[in-house]
Amino acid sequence: MVHRKKTSEIEQITASSQIVFAVQQKLEALIAPGISTLGLDEIAESEIRAMGAVPAFKGYHGFPFSICASVNASIVHGFPDETPLQEGDIACIDVGTLLDGYYGDGAFTIGVGTISAEAQHLIDGTLACLELGIAQAVPGGRLSDISHAIQSHADEQGLAIIREYGGHGIGRSLHESPHINNYGPPGKGPKLKPGHVFCIEPILCLGNPEVEHLDDGWTTLTRDRSLAAHSEHTIAITEDGPLILTLPIPALA
Ligand code: MG
Repeated sequence: MVHRKKTSEIEQITASSQIVFAVQQKLEALIAPGISTLGLDEIAESEIRAMGAVPAFKGYHGFPFSICASVNASIVHGFPDETPLQEGDIACIDVGTLLDGYYGDGAFTIGVGTISAEAQHLIDGTLACLELGIAQAVPGGRLSDISHAIQSHADEQGLAIIREYGGHGIGRSLHESPHINNYGPPGKGPKLKPGHVFCIEPILCLGNPEVEHLDDGWTTLTRDRSLAAHSEHTIAITEDGPLILTLPIPALA
């Protein structure tokens, strides 16, 4: 059984997710050679608090920062640090918010200055996987339809799926059931229904998807140091299909 949220709860998650989007916009505009991810973290925290929310990741199982910043071969959960971003890097920024008891969660990967064609292919492919996964989040479908759409596109594009991570439910907790694999056959798992609220988040790399965990307990790298990318939206399933909550919503605009 996957918990179905009431309209009022979806509105609360939406409000939290709109802050995620606003902060992402702010950070995206600042990402350029020379800025550090620690600098971005400080800006994210003050922006989130200025909008009346709390950075959801800070203190989550002891995570010490407001954003996750995973650069180049860093996959997810990277610590922001003082290293200036350099031309040609790719940076994944994951933002989480808690507003009035409800969470929002979203991530994007962006090139710093001019990046290689391969790196752009990875970023574009990861975003396309996210969009194709979201397109499967419709009433009457099955959970693994999302997984399968992500895997099919990654395979087509020659991108490897990092299988240790996946999407999740979200609401009054940052991570709720179900876990959403980024791979697998279609037509399996719980039936998708209006009121389901999920984070869908393909995590891909250019090389071998084997993962190395650093001693800080959080940072994960591709063992072969190939570039990794991650894109994530919080979405709600409605009668009319998926509604992305971490993007501007036409009805609210
Ligand atoms: Mg997430």
